[in-house]
Amino acid sequence: MNRLSELLSSLKVRILGGVFCIYFLAMGMVLYGVWTYQRTKLVDMNSQHAIQMSDVIVAGLRSSMLQNDRAESMRSIRKILQVADTSRINVLNLNGRIVMTSDPDLKNKILDKKIHPSCTNCHGPENELDRTSSFIDEHGEKYISIATSIRNEPACYGCHDKKNKIIGILLVESSFSRTTAMLEELAQRVVLTGIFAFFVGALLIHYIVTRFFTQPLHALQRGFENVGKGDFSHWVYVQGGGEIGYMADSFNVMSRAIGRFVNEIKDKTEEVSAHYTIVDSLSRTIEKKKLKEVVVDLLRSLLRAECVAMALTVERHDHLFEVVTIKRGDKRYYHGYYDADSEEPEQCALTRKDILKWMGGHCIPVVLSSDGAKLLLHLEHKNLSVGLISLVKPDGEVFSASEQKIIPVLAHHITVSLANAQLFDMAITDGLTTLYTKRYYQKKIDDYIENFHSAKRGFCLLMMDVDHFKQVNDEYGHPVGDKVLIHIAELIRSNIRHGDTPFRIGGEEFAALLKGDSLEAAVRIAERVRLAAEKTTVKVDNFPPISKTLSFGIACFPHHFSKAEEIINAADAALYEAKRKGRNQIVVYCRHTAQNEGSE
Ligand code: GH3
Ligand code: MG
Ligand code: MG
Repeated sequence: MNRLSELLSSLKVRILGGVFCIYFLAMGMVLYGVWTYQRTKLVDMNSQHAIQMSDVIVAGLRSSMLQNDRAESMRSIRKILQVADTSRINVLNLNGRIVMTSDPDLKNKILDKKIHPSCTNCHGPENELDRTSSFIDEHGEKYISIATSIRNEPACYGCHDKKNKIIGILLVESSFSRTTAMLEELAQRVVLTGIFAFFVGALLIHYIVTRFFTQPLHALQRGFENVGKGDFSHWVYVQGGGEIGYMADSFNVMSRAIGRFVNEIKDKTEEVSAHYTIVDSLSRTIEKKKLKEVVVDLLRSLLRAECVAMALTVERHDHLFEVVTIKRGDKRYYHGYYDADSEEPEQCALTRKDILKWMGGHCIPVVLSSDGAKLLLHLEHKNLSVGLISLVKPDGEVFSASEQKIIPVLAHHITVSLANAQLFDMAITDGLTTLYTKRYYQKKIDDYIENFHSAKRGFCLLMMDVDHFKQVNDEYGHPVGDKVLIHIAELIRSNIRHGDTPFRIGGEEFAALLKGDSLEAAVRIAERVRLAAEKTTVKVDNFPPISKTLSFGIACFPHHFSKAEEIINAADAALYEAKRKGRNQIVVYCRHTAQNEGSE
């Protein structure tokens, strides 16, 4: 039912239906006109023929009548009938009696002048006519009857009263059957011609409508459907031009324009989304240590790079630089320190030549390699170099135009974030040793405890105090003491793991937050630092080498306690115990440690 209503509502069916109806009517009218014209023509010809016959018969009869020979007259009538193919000939006297006839049955029959169709023409309102024609239907047989007055002339006065104008009526009745048969055949031919012409015309109209109307419209419809599906490259081709051809051309121009606008919107959306990702990622942390990893990760994912390496300067070490690297398909971050004077970083196509240029301040902001697959990004903030980034695309890929477009914005955000992180770093680091401050230490312990459930990882607090440090100050002075403290801080930093955080929490007191609550790991790290301190000597100016040992106290979360204060007190108690036991040793907190502390 739906298919039927769909079919009926189709434009093609409506147009073809309308055209066929008009065509059918026009054809019908033309054929009817031809048929009626031909019919009239045939009837006229028949009448004309009968009239001519009448004239001939009248002339023939008149000459035979003048001889007053009725038998001769009848022979003449029969001969005429044979020659002229006329159906019947009757001669009526003035009383309407048939006095001579080709049909013996009608002899002496009187025709009623008020009823008989051959008589009513003259004996009606317009009488006195010389000749009339009329149609007679007799027993299903049609005749055309020509009634002709036989005028009274002087030659006739011998037999007829000269007072009468006419002496009789000649009725020539010509059968209409042949004409009717011709008309029927004509009608059949007209109908057959009409049907044939209708079907040929209908096929032609169908072809024209399909070829020049519905097919181009279907092509346009397919175009609209493709545009609806987001395919703006679909080209509508209409043969033959015309209005629909112009429409198709306009459609193609329009779909291309929409495609361009959609691509522009896509690019803009990608740009906005990239901006959001940049800002969102970079605002996640302000800690420089974490931020370096966020930056390389962000660059790798946003620019779909094979690897990213970021080189940063190292404070107080002019010839040193740090490189943080990440590679595609590897979740780990690689940190390394290199000497610009001698070492090749060999990280993500970052060369020593690039590093030297950057450190020498001869870097331009963005350098794209000639093959478009490598990018060097120089980060600069207020004329100060912040870092150098190298990005490499996977094999066969290059940095796209939209990626290159976003790089300046990206570089700007990264530079600002690193500069802010630098400031924050200064705020949370100790000026002498560059280790983190006591305030940051307390915050970091709180953070670790707070994040314990999400990170599912505890930590160990390692507290360290330099043994008999006062002697250094007393013997060599405060400045030498400071240099020894810097040396010890560096020693602690380089002997703990990368993920562990070192602090200076007092004059010659240090701490380290070690990731994971493994006591064995904590003791192992503490032992590494202890041994390093024990073995190393510090040479300051002309003073003799100074060697200082450290004492250690260890407490772990949640192994020992679950509150920050309790953990700090426990590590402190363990450190006190290490001092008490003779210094240069490591003590892990236990209840016994606490009791000892309380008893002294
Ligand atoms: P112990 O083994 O018991 O820890 O003995 P100690 O001498 O290390 O401990 P004490 O607490 O008696 O002395 C700490 C000294 O550290 C006192 C102070 O002069 C020195 N100190 C603290 N801060 C600084 C600093 O910033 N620079 C220098 N040079 N010395 C400092
Ligand atoms: Mg001390
Ligand atoms: Mg102390």
